Amino acid sequence: MIARYKIALISGLFMLLGSSAHAAPVLVVGHKNPDSDSIFAAISLAYLKSQQGTPAVAIAQGQPNPETQFVLDYFGLLAPSLVLKVAGNQVVLVDHNNYAQAPEDIKEAEIVGIVDHHNLGGISTDEPVEVLIKPVGSTNTIIWQLYQRAGVAIPSAIAGGMLSAIFSDTLVFRSPSTTDLDRTAVKSLAAIANVNDIQKYGQQMFLAGEADLITAPIVSLLQRDFKNFDMSGNKVGVAQLTAMSVDLLTDRKDDYLAEMQKQQKEQGYKSLILMLTDIQSEGTELLVVGENQLAIGNALNVSLKNHSAWVAGVMSRKRQIIPVLEKVFDQHDK
Ligand code: MG
Ligand code: MG
Ligand code: MG
Repeated sequence: MIARYKIALISGLFMLLGSSAHAAPVLVVGHKNPDSDSIFAAISLAYLKSQQGTPAVAIAQGQPNPETQFVLDYFGLLAPSLVLKVAGNQVVLVDHNNYAQAPEDIKEAEIVGIVDHHNLGGISTDEPVEVLIKPVGSTNTIIWQLYQRAGVAIPSAIAGGMLSAIFSDTLVFRSPSTTDLDRTAVKSLAAIANVNDIQKYGQQMFLAGEADLITAPIVSLLQRDFKNFDMSGNKVGVAQLTAMSVDLLTDRKDDYLAEMQKQQKEQGYKSLILMLTDIQSEGTELLVVGENQLAIGNALNVSLKNHSAWVAGVMSRKRQIIPVLEKVFDQHDK
């Protein structure tokens, strides 16, 4: 109901703009199953673009997760409208750059920009496109730099969203994906957003994000931060859940495995992986179903027992798991 109202609202906006001499606004969108980085990158980049004279609107491919909703409420921001169809529009992709995570009809839209911090994911375009990809901890760190360069002031609430996104993606600087630039950005954003004790705020945010791990349906938890990948022609899914106490995650391990096995077969996944990442002890309980289990375990120097193993020091999907999987599938499934 809420989603439909928002879609109506945004198409009304297009009509409004369409009736004048102006073109429709550029749509700024993060990946499917959006996380805080995707939501706040869309919001912060759309605002920057608009300030620079290019009307832009933040949209999202899904509802905010509980952590993101906490941040939205905390800083008094509205979630981007849920928009699943982008055909015919100009689109900027944030926090992703591959077809598997982009809107389904993205090939019927015009991609005019990409701002991201992931590996190059195989998108091709007809026209030259502005691309900004940096190996930093969060897309919002890159956008913070864009604000600096443009000399555009960041509204306090948006600064709060941006710093939360950097916290979320870097697990409060504990993930090996963290860079000095992420720390610098957070320091600057915290001053603008009036967040005095950033560690305390980060803890509050993560607690809000993990509050329903015991009660929410397994299917929705598995979907919460789920990403699809095409690895050497194989359909691979990698989900991640994080918590400050690993018990919150591992208590339902058997339920996760049962659901993963079901989805792997029903949806034709070669492999389905779930990272249960413990922020405090800095490691991941890795759950693997489907093919190449032995090779995946070997590549990470662990042996999987009952489809799972504790992998110390592993916290980042994009830097520590995806490259390993890409190699395994490249070698085993030509
Ligand atoms: Mg993301
Ligand atoms: Mg990100
Ligand atoms: Mg993430």
